[in-house]
Amino acid sequence: MSTSAVSRIHKNFINGDWVEARQGRTFENRNPADTSELVGIFPSSTHEDVNAAVEAAKAAFVKWRLMPAPRRAEILYRAAEILVKRKEDMARDMTREMGKPLSETRGDVQEAIDMTYYMAGEGRRLFGQTVPSELPNKFAMSVRDPLGVVGMITPWNFPMAIPSWKIMPALICGNTVVIKPAEDTPLSTYNLVQILIESGLPRGVVNIVNGMGPDAGAPLITHPDVSAVSFTGSTETGRIVNQACAPSFKPCHLEMGGKNIIIVMDDANLELAVEGAVWGGFGTSGQRCTAASRVAVHAKVHKEFLDRFAARVKSLKIGDGLDPGTDVGPVINETQLETVMKYVEIGKNEGAKIVAGGHRAESGGLSSGWFHEPTIFSGVDPRMRIAQEEIFGPVVAVISFSSFDESIEIANNVKYGLSASIYTRNANQAFRAMRDLQTGIVYVNAPTIGAEIQLPFGGTKGTGNGHREAGTAAIDFYSEWKTLYIDYSDRLQRAQIDAEL
Ligand code: NAD
Repeated sequence: MSTSAVSRIHKNFINGDWVEARQGRTFENRNPADTSELVGIFPSSTHEDVNAAVEAAKAAFVKWRLMPAPRRAEILYRAAEILVKRKEDMARDMTREMGKPLSETRGDVQEAIDMTYYMAGEGRRLFGQTVPSELPNKFAMSVRDPLGVVGMITPWNFPMAIPSWKIMPALICGNTVVIKPAEDTPLSTYNLVQILIESGLPRGVVNIVNGMGPDAGAPLITHPDVSAVSFTGSTETGRIVNQACAPSFKPCHLEMGGKNIIIVMDDANLELAVEGAVWGGFGTSGQRCTAASRVAVHAKVHKEFLDRFAARVKSLKIGDGLDPGTDVGPVINETQLETVMKYVEIGKNEGAKIVAGGHRAESGGLSSGWFHEPTIFSGVDPRMRIAQEEIFGPVVAVISFSSFDESIEIANNVKYGLSASIYTRNANQAFRAMRDLQTGIVYVNAPTIGAEIQLPFGGTKGTGNGHREAGTAAIDFYSEWKTLYIDYSDRLQRAQIDAEL
């Protein structure tokens, strides 16, 4: 039985207690595949709730930072074990609130499992450096200190994976947490934190404040007792977060939008490239930050690729993600559907040609959800808005090019820099692409999506601000270096000045 079926009214989690929003307001979480289904009711919080949550996290930090990291890790190991057992329930809840097919929501929960195990392992590592001192009888090393209370703001497209990418490294480093989940998918954060509580997480170490961005997210970022902020979402909101953190020099980690590309060279395995473009472009209904919303194809194979790509996409089954036959679920909400439809009109007006899809999908019982046909535009000029702006829906722009250099120029000539891919059997081209693509992630002979949690994740330019999620890179954000010198010579030794033994 899914957890949401047990209790459909949810609360904030503050200092170890489930509590209503101080002002008593709530919002609804509805299934995007069938909006008549109410998934849950959640508190709509304001700065008063944020203040209480930060106060609890600040108090909990006093003890949590002193708990040895291997002990903190034991809680994470237990959480990972419970997640494994409840994976199916968590995935079903997620499909109901977010819409993506069950196979994908299972993958989302699996990512949380992987991250939880990985960061639990870091509890016995958290490596610093021990280096020789330039002076005799002196010891030099660096250790990692936690930052304090970390404020987290997450999007709806990876409702459990992304909160886990932030919460687990933060905890293992000794920080405490206040998280404001996306208002479209609060249930998956609830489920994740519920498991941490069952695993023995002390009171106040993780707190959830639900609600809208401006009401509950904004006061979290600016709260003086929040030492650092980790944000994933759109570039527009990321800019607001960045500016809000700037006056107090608050470290802030931003993971934002993308306009990712698959390059198909004339020597590519076309069958493989078509499969990659279908999965990269239409997995999660194109709502992944790494979605391949552009496919650039060498002119020599353009027609053959496009024919095969369009035929394959027309055969995709649109529907409820809980139905095992579904390939493409709904988009997240009405606003997102309107955005997709707006961009389809923009593409047509710009002179691009629709070769698959192009409409809202309503027939066959889909009219009560936010469905859109998987859509392909051909004849796209790389300067068109549909080739430059993040649509975040099932729309792919196919662009033709005539040389390797031109493909790299097209790839790099956007304001984002998250993920890029090249299909080629030429090793020289593959290595040149790995060197010249200006993105945080590059794939060879695989689509732009499918990151693994043990390596850094993030992007350049308008996608990020230099930090990375996942892998040991995440530890770098959630900890601060402290350098320690221990002089056991019993005399004053001046660095750079006293050299004699
Ligand atoms: P969004 O920016 O609308 O919302 C993200 C979060 O910010 C939500 O929790 C929202 O409530 C909150 N928020 C909104 N306004 C706020 C404000 N003024 N102050 C504080 N918080 C505020 O993004 P979204 O629609 O939820 O997610 C889609 C976007 O996320 C896409 O652009 C996608 O590319 C990006 N994304 C990026 C990555 C990555 O790792 N680079 C991963 C997933 C999604």
